[in-house]
Amino acid sequence: MSSKAPVHSDNYPDSYYFATANALEPQPQLSEHISVDVCIIGGGFSGINTSIELAQKGFSVALLEAKRIGWGASGRNGGELIRGIGHNVEQFRNEIGSEGVQAIHEMGFEAVEIVRQRVKQHQIDCNLQMGYCDLATKPRHMTELSADYQAMCDEGRGDGFKLLQQDEISQVIGSEIYQGALVDMNSGHLHPLNLALGEARVARSLGVQMFENSAATQIIKGDKPKVLTEHGQVDCQYLVLAGNAYIGHKLDSHVGGKVLPAGSYLLATEPLSQAMCDEIIPQNMAFADMRIDLDYFHLSQDNRLLFGGLCTYSGNDPRDINKALRPNLEKVFPQLKGVKIDYEWGGMIGIGANRLPQIGRLDDCPNIFYAQAYAGHGVNATHMAAKLIAEALTQQAERFDIFNKVKHMTFPGGPTFRSPMLAAGMLYHRFKDLF
Ligand SMILES: Cc1cc2nc3c(=O)[nH]c(=O)nc-3n(C[C@H](O)[C@H](O)[C@H](O)COP(=O)(O)OP(=O)(O)OC[C@H]3O[C@@H](n4cnc5c(N)ncnc54)[C@H](O)[C@@H]3O)c2cc1C
Repeated sequence: MSSKAPVHSDNYPDSYYFATANALEPQPQLSEHISVDVCIIGGGFSGINTSIELAQKGFSVALLEAKRIGWGASGRNGGELIRGIGHNVEQFRNEIGSEGVQAIHEMGFEAVEIVRQRVKQHQIDCNLQMGYCDLATKPRHMTELSADYQAMCDEGRGDGFKLLQQDEISQVIGSEIYQGALVDMNSGHLHPLNLALGEARVARSLGVQMFENSAATQIIKGDKPKVLTEHGQVDCQYLVLAGNAYIGHKLDSHVGGKVLPAGSYLLATEPLSQAMCDEIIPQNMAFADMRIDLDYFHLSQDNRLLFGGLCTYSGNDPRDINKALRPNLEKVFPQLKGVKIDYEWGGMIGIGANRLPQIGRLDDCPNIFYAQAYAGHGVNATHMAAKLIAEALTQQAERFDIFNKVKHMTFPGGPTFRSPMLAAGMLYHRFKDLF
């Protein structure tokens, strides 16, 4: 059963998620010339949820996906649904003011709630389990977690959070390498491909026209943008670019130049005995440690350990994901030494220079919107971005404008040299992270 399929092909990667996907209903290829209020490029969480939000507000919507629905990061990720948007949002205080910083902070909680509500309201079968833990690997991390916890309590959000010291950590994880943890019962984990497929069904039930194998090849800007595909065309009032790490440079170099693809990878073990599951993760939570090169993991519905990590910035996938990632897994859980790996896969995370999701509209064509660069923290933030774009299209742009105000750097080096440059930059941050 071990998967050795290429990580990037036109079909879904041979992942655990693909093997356990609910109905993968194929969608037609666009082969005609259509007109809609809104055209969306990209069939991941950003695009699908924007289509839901807009269809609910009465817009006619067409969504173009180059490959299959959920083919990108949304159908491949660690499935960790974690509070928070961006990193160190304080750094934007000069640009967005104290109110802006506070609003993004609050949206970090709202984003998780949007996912929970969507799953509940539409009964999406994606094994959503609440319970998540930040893990400290150094004393400095424990200081940060304590400060986070205190801040949460001070603002009346302490319910569901618990700080665990090293001698208490066996309550949640059977590993000896951590110095402590912050438990968050309002975050959790889910089956991301089944969430994306379930949401796509919701969108279609609302009348969204969805096309697969329909890559947008050219955008013609104007009062009524036109989007060309190999066999069709969409004319629209508004266009939303939601291709994230897979968008490339050709459609719009302004948007594509601000997001860099970085690879992240996962292993799925064979199903573990119930006794082993109870030993390693007794409360079925999700986990991530606090390093730049973090490990993230949780159990699947059928008792496999899904273990992710290994960020690559060079644009090259590791030749053997199992070989590269297994030492990390066995360091966290020596009990699993030699465990059989049934699936291995990876996908591309969209990275921006300042780690704040890029949610905005083009200066030279304000009816073209974009949402991207969530780094490894997009399961929640994509759903928030979708809501903000829908708010902006219905003249309630206050929250959207907070993000739109922030300037984002275009990565130097163009498509050829920017990945090696980022790889060199990240080496420096990894070095700093050693202390
Ligand atoms: C391995 C991995 C693990 C991760 N783990 C987590 C996690 O545990 N928790 C978390 O919160 N986040 C995680 N993330 C990040 C999260 O998955 C992403 O931020 C999120 O899924 C982004 O969704 P999206 O819709 O913006 O992009 P994607 O899901 O990547 O979708 C973009 C889509 O656009 C399509 N597209 C691109 N160009 C075109 C075009 N020209 N025409 C038509 N379609 C086009 C692509 O084919 C793709 O399907 C992880 C990411 C990866 C890769």
